[in-house]
Amino acid sequence: MPSATSPLPGAAFLQCTATDEIFDSEQLIGLSPAGKPLFARYDLVALRDRFTPGALVGRAPTLWRYEEVLPVRDRAFRVTLGEGFTPLVDSPRLARRFGVRRLWVKDEGQNPTGSFKDRGLCMAVSRAFELGARELAIPSAGNAAGSSAAYGAAAGLPVHVVVPEDTPLPILAEIRALGADLALLDGLISDCGRVVRQRCDEDGWWDLSTLKEPYRVEGKKTMGYELFEQLGGRLPDAIVYPTGGGTGLIGMWKAFGEMEELGWIGSARPRMFSVQSTGCAPMVRAWEEGREEAGTWEDAVTYAAGLRVPGAVGDFLILRAIRESEGGAVAVPDAEMEEWVETMGADTGIFAAPEGGATAAAVPRLMEMGLIGANDEVVLFNTGSGLKYVGMEPVGRSDQ
Ligand SMILES: *Cc1c(COP(=O)(O)O)cnc(C)c1O
Repeated sequence: MPSATSPLPGAAFLQCTATDEIFDSEQLIGLSPAGKPLFARYDLVALRDRFTPGALVGRAPTLWRYEEVLPVRDRAFRVTLGEGFTPLVDSPRLARRFGVRRLWVKDEGQNPTGSFKDRGLCMAVSRAFELGARELAIPSAGNAAGSSAAYGAAAGLPVHVVVPEDTPLPILAEIRALGADLALLDGLISDCGRVVRQRCDEDGWWDLSTLKEPYRVEGKKTMGYELFEQLGGRLPDAIVYPTGGGTGLIGMWKAFGEMEELGWIGSARPRMFSVQSTGCAPMVRAWEEGREEAGTWEDAVTYAAGLRVPGAVGDFLILRAIRESEGGAVAVPDAEMEEWVETMGADTGIFAAPEGGATAAAVPRLMEMGLIGANDEVVLFNTGSGLKYVGMEPVGRSDQ
């Protein structure tokens, strides 16, 4: 597939996030030999003169506008459905309700399949396609499977998805309609992950699991670049992020580091806040106990499918970003997520996923803890559309 224009720089190399060991980026590679996530590293010094905020003006409103710091080299391998560059919705009534200076909702529900999983999967599928993968597989709590099915279909590559049997019905309907091979499992995403791993080893499928290949985080990091652009060249004081595997939080933290190296920003950073469900809160527990790794949460239950992640391979990266940014982590019950979906909806016009509702539910708590103040500018991440959860019941609802 020849491309009309010159190839993009792509990543210079891959680096282990735990040992700093360096690897060739022109191969299909999952975790590092240490069993930790790999990060793509770019020659940012060489990009300083030409990859400037001014150079972005007039580019198409998708995440591919940041192509110089993305891994795909040949544009012909871009698999795109119009993902990214979602609206940053100014929400004055929600800001007044909380008593903060200013508040925006980054509405990731407006991505092609209705969740921000599209960012990561468009990148992982594109790069795997470029590097020669021919069959893809993913364990998922739901939305990542929908995104994989969509981008696999767009690329013309077969996709195998393994999801818990209680995955929201709209997501199952989507996976089927997009032609993916769907397996339902009586278990959690971690159990689905074991099944996928085995088939990848036996049948040569390429594993798209969170942070077990280097490129989903590259797609997700574009949220950090977008915040900077959409706020007119600055970053907010606080970012409230519903955390499962943590790719988005880790990705934005990586983006801020890159932006500093590119000379776009200084050393100041937004405070990063992780929100989880009281039914599955490994990061909150680890943060409260001052630990650097989170371990596994037993008996994870929450209707916020994206937060039902009992153990995350990038736990130490999430906790590091929270700590270094002087942020924090807080858990909210499902019933409150549901209430805040409605309050947020009535205040903003956005029908949020429960994960988005969770970020709003977290704000009063974070203010009470003194971690967010009246003078702060705050961004909440609504990571998906409420439409994908229609028919799901919050766990432990008070009227049941
Ligand atoms: C996957 C998911 C999350 C969690 O995202 P991570 O980056 O894996 O922490 C949050 N919300 C929704 C809607 C999701 O699908």
